[in-house]
Amino acid sequence: MKYLLLLLVLAVVVLLLAAKRARPREPQPRTPAPPAPPRAMLSCAECGMHLPADEALPGKGGVFCSAAHRTSFEARQDPA
Ligand SMILES: [Zn+2]
Repeated sequence: MKYLLLLLVLAVVVLLLAAKRARPREPQPRTPAPPAPPRAMLSCAECGMHLPADEALPGKGGVFCSAAHRTSFEARQDPA
């Protein structure tokens, strides 16, 4: 009778382990990094490179990726 109880306990443990193994924790679907909030993209009027609006340099005739491009663009627009 003592062994029966021991067997029962063992059976329960084995069943619990089996249940655990049979139903592995759902692999957490890796949530990708939250998408960056959409930023307005502008393209440089000189070279066409896209850049975030907050990094664009405003100039005559558009926005530019760099001061150099603004300078050369404006020089072409307004050759004086
Ligand atoms: Zn540019």
